[in-house]
Amino acid sequence: MSETFVGIDLGGTNIKIGLFDAELKLVCKTSVTTDADMGPEIVIDKMAQTVKDLVAEAGLSPENVVAVGIGTPGPAKYTEGIIIKSTNMPKFKNVPICQMLVDRLGVPVVFDNDANVACWGEYVVGAGKGVQDMVFFTLGTGIGGGVVSNGELVHGCDENAAELGHTIIYPNGRKCNCGQRGCVEAYASADSTARRAAEAIEAGAESTLKKVFDEKGRITSKDVYEHLAAGDKLAGEITDGTAEALALTCINMLHTTEPKRIVFVGGMIAAGDALLKRIRDFFEEHIWTIKKEEVEICFATLGEDAGIIGAGALARHTYGQQES
Ligand SMILES: [Zn+2]
Repeated sequence: MSETFVGIDLGGTNIKIGLFDAELKLVCKTSVTTDADMGPEIVIDKMAQTVKDLVAEAGLSPENVVAVGIGTPGPAKYTEGIIIKSTNMPKFKNVPICQMLVDRLGVPVVFDNDANVACWGEYVVGAGKGVQDMVFFTLGTGIGGGVVSNGELVHGCDENAAELGHTIIYPNGRKCNCGQRGCVEAYASADSTARRAAEAIEAGAESTLKKVFDEKGRITSKDVYEHLAAGDKLAGEITDGTAEALALTCINMLHTTEPKRIVFVGGMIAAGDALLKRIRDFFEEHIWTIKKEEVEICFATLGEDAGIIGAGALARHTYGQQES
């Protein structure tokens, strides 16, 4: 029997589903709208039916499916398979999503948060391939993360481990959305990067970004990187601030779990080497001198399919017969 694993990425707008073979090669994939307003019963009915349709389309039988992996944003009780609540899906309250899928598909289901799932995908077949210890940062509106230590995801005693965005790097620093001060998220997320640029302009800094700010009333992180590429001095200073904050967090993580590789993902990596080189330079500037560490700092490689690949990989890791 050819082992098949299902990876599901449940978002507020779309449900992405992929089928993977035992080597985690993508057999086929699809995407359907979530229609979260219809409520969990209907959404999960649709999710299960889409899996069945995809299995049939691939010429496989339901018996080929060994397990399903699913990733979605928290808060959730991942071990118990329950979504507690969801910002993007207000009708999802205390939904036993794993059991509901087991009832509909008759195979085991493994569940984790979207950052951990993407981290696991990168670890198994993406930028983390070949190492045993990896740290993963998602640079979006906020900063999320995942930690793989000795070949396993770290979950913590209450499943809140790897909230890397809320590690404090500057005591009494900028206020973070979480209530703490000086979190890396308050400096280096896409939103914080853009906000620091806007604040500098409001305070009178000279920059080609001022025209953008005056015209649109706001600045995005994409604007910052475009103006950085064009040689704007302020955009360079703002990017330095982002990179230094990330580098300090990398050093703290190095001293925590000693990863071999540190991987960044998210829209901000579109800045390319201009950001990556700065992170590496600040890392070298601030790292301890006791022992030279060979840490590779790089960008993710899986792209938009990371969520389904990671979920499929998690299903294989938990329920597959063997891993290659
Ligand atoms: Zn915070």
